[in-house]
Amino acid sequence: MFNKSFFLLLLSLISGSGLFSQIRISADFDSGSIGSYKLIDSVWFFRNSNDSLLTLSYEIESRFDPLNPVDTSLRPSARWYHFRMEGVKGKHIFLNIKNSEAIRPVYSYDGVNFQRFETVENIYRGSVNKIFERDTVYISHFVPYPYSRHKAKLKEWKAVDGVLHEVIGHSSLGLPIEMLTVTDNSVSDVGKKRVWIHGRSHPSETPASWHLEAMIEEILSDSPFAKELRRNTIFYLVPFINPDGVKGGYSRSSSTGVNIEINWDRPDSLTMPEVKTLKATLERVTKEKPLDLLLNMHSQISSSVTYWIHTAESTTADFLKEQQLLSALTINYTPFYRPQDQSFSAMAPRYAEGWVWDRFGEKTLAITFETPYTYYNQDKDGPWVSVENLAQLGYSTLLAVSDLLDLDKENRIIADTDDNRVSKRNWEVSYDPSSIFFGDTFLVSKKEGSSLKYKLNLKKGVYTLYCWKVGPTAESYPAETNRWVKRAKVIQRRDGNFTYRIKSTNPGEKADAILLVKEFE
Ligand SMILES: [Zn+2]
Repeated sequence: MFNKSFFLLLLSLISGSGLFSQIRISADFDSGSIGSYKLIDSVWFFRNSNDSLLTLSYEIESRFDPLNPVDTSLRPSARWYHFRMEGVKGKHIFLNIKNSEAIRPVYSYDGVNFQRFETVENIYRGSVNKIFERDTVYISHFVPYPYSRHKAKLKEWKAVDGVLHEVIGHSSLGLPIEMLTVTDNSVSDVGKKRVWIHGRSHPSETPASWHLEAMIEEILSDSPFAKELRRNTIFYLVPFINPDGVKGGYSRSSSTGVNIEINWDRPDSLTMPEVKTLKATLERVTKEKPLDLLLNMHSQISSSVTYWIHTAESTTADFLKEQQLLSALTINYTPFYRPQDQSFSAMAPRYAEGWVWDRFGEKTLAITFETPYTYYNQDKDGPWVSVENLAQLGYSTLLAVSDLLDLDKENRIIADTDDNRVSKRNWEVSYDPSSIFFGDTFLVSKKEGSSLKYKLNLKKGVYTLYCWKVGPTAESYPAETNRWVKRAKVIQRRDGNFTYRIKSTNPGEKADAILLVKEFE
């Protein structure tokens, strides 16, 4: 048998002769990305000759996007990293990840099923350490949503009855940019609302794709809600507007280095093919009628969900009110978004939203939605972002969109005080957009005890009735305002008239829409 010093000598000989080089690092696959890497230290820990542990420390440089040729003053991003390490089983691997964040990033042994590094494996800012259980591991900033997943989902989705699939253009490298048009073709398009959703201009922002995927899955599902959405809406869905960027593992640019998110106000010669494609398609689908809503799906490094709400100064007070209604409805339906997380910015022509605003103004609510990579509500002790809770958020987002545009007239019936069937004696009609309300007006009670009657036609069934609590259009507001407040359970025994009365408890009390949500056994 060897004695201990001989064993140590042997090990140092093995290590010197390339044992460490048995770890291979690569990123030459769909959505893969790494800049450079180097081994900076290696240490053996011994307990006895049969129990030793090799610790290897690597410095990983996340790869920068190419310099933006349209605007060379912009600093390229290196947020996205997604690489494979082979030969790691049983070794203690330390990674110091540079040029990007490493806040509990994710790993996978099969390149498909990812999980977060635990807090104890991410003690030092920017670093992870773990003893891996398998020989091959994939490490990434967040759960990847590669080009192959997009193609696989498209294949499923375009096979659904009634879905129109089109290649609307091609990327710089010639990949197709694909759009699904979804509606109930048995219902006339006249009177349908039009909703456009696109995503992934920024390739690193994979949470946005998981969020959008869940929305599309619901839109295409057989649920009573989805069927109603399709009866009342034409959806234009472009999940991947930057396929080159995603496939090539870029962070914020396409393969050319151009950030296509801010490429909407350039002359033709400096407009990327992806943006040209979107402009041409938007022009085509809005020929008859403007869109009602355009959602631009993104993810942000800030640990909260938000819309980028355009200020009244850069749009109008009514437009701000409408955006805040969408935001408030979304807050209403999810625990992952709070009034204080709302973000505000000026409308600008370099973005898709600005391009739409210049053409259609208030008619189209065009807005960016942001999901975080890390956790929600700025609370690291709360839930961390996962594919599962992004899917829940997707459903919540659709509920908000449905209420905003009144898309489900069967299971989620909205009766607004704008409606003539609401009897409103002793109530003053208000148009004041410094409050958040449905439609064009809300009501203010003139005296204590003013009564208000909502009359509507209601199908047989059991419903929960909510009243909209009118609050201020403010950067933040108390969570109990600007939301649906549960008021009653309604049992409608047969199809026909339904009346709901409220009475004000003080003058100045505000009243707006009611919502009846059908219950299913
Ligand atoms: Zn983005």
